[in-house]
Amino acid sequence: MKNENIYLGSHVGLSAPDFYLGSVKEALSYGSNTFMFYTGAPQNSFRKPLSELKIQEGRKLIKESGIDESKIVVHAPYIINAANSSRLDLYEMSINTIVSELRRTAGFGAKILVLHPGSHVGMGVENGILALAKALDTALSCDGTDVKIAIETMSGKGHEIGVNFEEIKSIIDHCKLKNRLGVCLDTCHVHDSGYDLRGDLDGVIERFDKVIGLDRLLVVHVNDTKNPVAAHKDRHENIGYGYLGFDVLYRVVHHPRLQGIPMILETPYINEKAPYKQEIAMLRSGEYKENWRD
Ligand code: FE
Ligand code: FE
Ligand code: ZN
Repeated sequence: MKNENIYLGSHVGLSAPDFYLGSVKEALSYGSNTFMFYTGAPQNSFRKPLSELKIQEGRKLIKESGIDESKIVVHAPYIINAANSSRLDLYEMSINTIVSELRRTAGFGAKILVLHPGSHVGMGVENGILALAKALDTALSCDGTDVKIAIETMSGKGHEIGVNFEEIKSIIDHCKLKNRLGVCLDTCHVHDSGYDLRGDLDGVIERFDKVIGLDRLLVVHVNDTKNPVAAHKDRHENIGYGYLGFDVLYRVVHHPRLQGIPMILETPYINEKAPYKQEIAMLRSGEYKENWRD
């Protein structure tokens, strides 16, 4: 079963001097046919104007290299927290940032924006879900794009919401504009939140389909994890070095029910070097090299 319909890539940078052109080149250097990036620093919402980011040059290279632009993924900055409305200034800032990120995503020609559902910070899960759903409807009703938001499954640290499929489903159900909502399944996060991907991958995928529906699955984050199942930790590990292991992650990438969905690695750098070229090659071919990090 050789490459089917697999879109596999990694997180890439967006930095001077080449910006988006550099992002595309970086992705191609790993042997990727998709990628994910932040449109600025992940931890804040300061953003350079799109006109400075060499978007036309990047998109030209995307076309020339045969990458399907609809599989490219943007990740929203993680300072956004729209699951707590007790501080109105922060809540409104989060909504404004979501709107601006949706527009920036469209400006790159991309179609999918991954968003962390956020933390209720003591308001309770149900109130967190309601606050987020309202924020999403507000943002999606005024951004003027057709970009979809992929809500990421979280590991359950602190007061995070979206830590199981039922909570994600409830967020979607509380939104009116649900045709623009989907899900990003992170293998590290769902494992850490308590789903036994290693013991029962097909069962977890079936559960996702029953509760949310696989038609909502827009992105998969392919990460190994440093912690055992249900640890609620969220520490990513290189492919084959964690509790999930190579075989499970290979089966995720090649799973017949997950074909066509962009698969993005967010595994840690090794001595300041990106591991993605090796990880992508192994996940495509199925040939795992023991101690490949050494
Ligand atoms: Fe994320
Ligand atoms: Fe992730
Ligand atoms: Zn994570």
